Amino acid sequence: MTLTVTKQTSDSTRTEHVDVLIVGAGISGIGAAHHLMEQCPEKSFVILEKMESFGGTWWTHRYPGARSDSDLYTFGYRFKPWTGPPIASAGEILAYLQEVIDEDRLDEKIRYRHRINSASWSSDERCWTVEVTRLDTGEELRFTAGFVWMCQGYYRQEEGYTPQWPGFERFEGTVVHPQRWPEGLDVTGKRVVVIGSGATAATLIPNIADEAAHVTMLQRSPTFFLIAPNQNETANMLRGLEIPEEWIHEIVRRQNIQLQGMLSQMGRDDPEFLREELLRPVREVLGEDFDVDRHFNPTYRPWQQRIAIVPDGDFFHSIREGKASVVTDQIESFTEHGIALASGETLEADVVVTATGFNLTALGDVAVTIDDVSLDFASTVTWRGMMFTGVPNLLWVFGYLRYSWTLRVDLLGDFVCRLLAHMDELGARVVVPELSSEDQGMALRPWIDPDNFNAGYITRNLHLMPRQGDHVPWRHEQDYVTDCRELPAVDLDDGTLVYK
Ligand SMILES: Cc1cc2nc3c(=O)[nH]c(=O)nc-3n(C[C@H](O)[C@H](O)[C@H](O)COP(=O)(O)OP(=O)(O)OC[C@H]3O[C@@H](n4cnc5c(N)ncnc54)[C@H](O)[C@@H]3O)c2cc1C
Repeated sequence: MTLTVTKQTSDSTRTEHVDVLIVGAGISGIGAAHHLMEQCPEKSFVILEKMESFGGTWWTHRYPGARSDSDLYTFGYRFKPWTGPPIASAGEILAYLQEVIDEDRLDEKIRYRHRINSASWSSDERCWTVEVTRLDTGEELRFTAGFVWMCQGYYRQEEGYTPQWPGFERFEGTVVHPQRWPEGLDVTGKRVVVIGSGATAATLIPNIADEAAHVTMLQRSPTFFLIAPNQNETANMLRGLEIPEEWIHEIVRRQNIQLQGMLSQMGRDDPEFLREELLRPVREVLGEDFDVDRHFNPTYRPWQQRIAIVPDGDFFHSIREGKASVVTDQIESFTEHGIALASGETLEADVVVTATGFNLTALGDVAVTIDDVSLDFASTVTWRGMMFTGVPNLLWVFGYLRYSWTLRVDLLGDFVCRLLAHMDELGARVVVPELSSEDQGMALRPWIDPDNFNAGYITRNLHLMPRQGDHVPWRHEQDYVTDCRELPAVDLDDGTLVYK
């Protein structure tokens, strides 16, 4: 067993050593810790989390009605049955994560308000040195770690993305980004304009439409949504037969994975059929007089962006009932009292919600150096979308964009544990992906192919991300079914991972 060792160094910064350092206590970090405890119980580890509590996305997003946009049978972990409705609120997801923390006693392992500022790899010492600020006391701490498991998500938690529109500063009303929803914001009787067309806008609108005087969704272009009941017939039927929850979870999980795979495949093979299948229920709710094609029929192919589930069509019902409306137009400029549009129309507003997305960050804004040289992450090539050329003993959990993110948390949990065990067998302390001389000449592509997936938060920031090659293992497939088949069988000694 490797013990956590704490020592005082000459520059008086306390140093603590762990085998594995997990960055972030979101759904990825908590899942990573579970797999490590279960499959590598001898490894010492710590989770460093800069916020005051766990949950990441589900802790930061507090706008009314914040919820998942994919089902919890697949967004939940493989090892922990989900027993609630398929689409869950942020609060329900936090309660689920709390149960995992309690069952695994992870509270002993998570250090809250510990912000990681930098991570430096030393080839001489064959470990990472991680500099941390305790945000509650201001103390500077140092950790050394054999392996760093990056579970920091993919966007900057502190601030969302807000474009700078002409005249924005003139607006005299309240401006809110959903990522920083102020406690106690009261929209009762207010005219609210929500700028954006994604899952956040569609979630927020039905949840404030009853109180607000009116809510307008202002979008530049439409987005696809999937209307589905917020219950699962298979789960209901199996519960009626008193089947154990573990079985129900596994069965419904498989069913939903298959469904997500079919939709994804259909998006590639027969996008026009899928387009009509998605729009038909929208037309049914909104009725013949509503211009569905103008407001809800995107120019892109289905699945070129994530398709959010709208449980029971609540968003569309708010529009049908006249509590909310949608405007598809361009912002010309802000005025003191609202927004002037390119069409000449003006939207009067008391509150403007900028549901305009995220700022993607690579590596959680942690400054990384390798042997004192600052890492240019964008110049690395990814090994299967999880490790990076020239970056030793580090893995990033970047989940699926079409399937539920968390499906990859479980797969990578198995993978890391297998890799660590393999290193122990070899007596190696370093693993690093390296391109062979033949691979060095391969064509390089962006982290995500924009023709395959073109959500704004990805395409805006692709220049920050590593690149992928044109063949395995240098591809970032983003396909759960392929990963599920390939990852457990990956030959760890195929020469693309170099051990020292
Ligand atoms: C509103 C919303 C709904 C979503 N719904 C779904 C869904 O239904 N299905 C789906 O698949 N995906 C969904 N996503 C995407 C979602 O972000 C991921 O699926 C998932 O929650 C990401 O988990 P994570 O743990 O990897 O990252 P995060 O949830 O972002 O957590 C990362 C954690 O790392 C910490 N951290 C980061 N940097 C540092 C640092 N330098 N030092 C210390 N700590 C650090 C952060 O504070 C945070 O707690 C949604 C996203 C949003 C915003």
